[in-house]
Amino acid sequence: MLKYMAEKSKTGMYESVMKQFEKAADIMNLDSNIRKILSNTNNEIVVHFPVKMDNGSVEVFTGYRVQHNNALGPYKGGLRYHPTVDIDDARALAIWMTWKTSLAGLPYGGGKGGIQLDPVKYSASELERITRRFTFALGGNIGPEYDIPAPDVNTNAQIMAWMADTYMSTKDSDSRSKYAHVVTGKPINSGGLEGRDRATGFGVVTTLQSWADWKNETLEGKSYIVQGFGNVGQWTAHFMKEKGAKMVAVQDHTGTIYNENGIDPIELLEYAKGNKGGVAGYPKAEAIDNDKFFALQCDICIPAALGSQITGANANDIKAKVIAEGANGPTTPEGEEILLKKGVSIIPDILCNSGGVIGSYYEWLQNRNGEIWQMDDVIGKLERKLINSFGKVVVAAAEYKVDLRTAAYIVAIRRIELTYRERGVFP
Ligand code: GLU
Repeated sequence: MLKYMAEKSKTGMYESVMKQFEKAADIMNLDSNIRKILSNTNNEIVVHFPVKMDNGSVEVFTGYRVQHNNALGPYKGGLRYHPTVDIDDARALAIWMTWKTSLAGLPYGGGKGGIQLDPVKYSASELERITRRFTFALGGNIGPEYDIPAPDVNTNAQIMAWMADTYMSTKDSDSRSKYAHVVTGKPINSGGLEGRDRATGFGVVTTLQSWADWKNETLEGKSYIVQGFGNVGQWTAHFMKEKGAKMVAVQDHTGTIYNENGIDPIELLEYAKGNKGGVAGYPKAEAIDNDKFFALQCDICIPAALGSQITGANANDIKAKVIAEGANGPTTPEGEEILLKKGVSIIPDILCNSGGVIGSYYEWLQNRNGEIWQMDDVIGKLERKLINSFGKVVVAAAEYKVDLRTAAYIVAIRRIELTYRERGVFP
């Protein structure tokens, strides 16, 4: 039931999310009316907006926000700045957010968007003007009780601060402070949450720990490879170090580095900071071909970059026993089929990387209630919530005799289905 596609989407993410949905919907025997509703997105906003560049010229940018479903609460999900951002990707990513927030038991629906651009081509002041003008163009399509953006690929706390400030500037001065929770992932000083920065990576490692406990294994001494060394990859590596696991390879947009004796994540982060964020050229590891990455010997594989990375073409080469999806949509259905046949476990994105949006929920509550939460409380609550989600997925996997992704979908969709049954369809 691919609603929107005349031809294949560029990244294949839309096909992936729809195939995953249909597989789960068939197995759980989802009500056909609810299936129809969830196969569509509620709203799709596309804005074209002009921004003055440093050299005085004007560029017109295209921004997107897709709001998939809000049966459980306001739309929630990140904004990414990347050349691949288009309507198909925004749709796919918005749909994944609906499942993710539902599975986590949050009072949110799913949305996603971004701007099609390569951020390295713009100065900080250009990025500020682009962000502010995009926020202004979105206008009332976002709001603290309606649709709440957050960071995603190539967006960060600074960008969220500019968005919050721009949105609040459009409100009357005496009520401005009521709107700080229009975005999450802000800097601590501007209403951000202690621990939101590390929440996704912490979640990846917590779900890996849950997987290890379930399989009577330990993370200590295990080797792993990570694709992406942005927010998710860095923090995942940080917490994997605490578990005593060994990072043997890292791949990012600058290249692939390998050291079978281990790469220290803290030293690598220091190096990357002085190297425009890239890992290429790190002196304590060797450079290897990008296409050798997924075939490397390791126990755990952590894709934490972009979608459609593990495919029918490379899944067979994978040596890891478990894939922890820090990214959204990193495994295509063809890749997944091969991995499942080989007996590889996949901790699905909507569970594995849900620490980020759970952290966002805590930030939103903190702002809404005028509170300041402490790091220990945030991390403790996050850990309990993720362990609980993992448990629900394992129970559904046993009940329906399905893989973890399909089980996670069933848990997520059941909750939305129940809500529609209780409330009915207006009028
Ligand atoms: N961009 C993150 C995700 O894909 C976080 C979303 C949020 O915090 O709203 O889950």
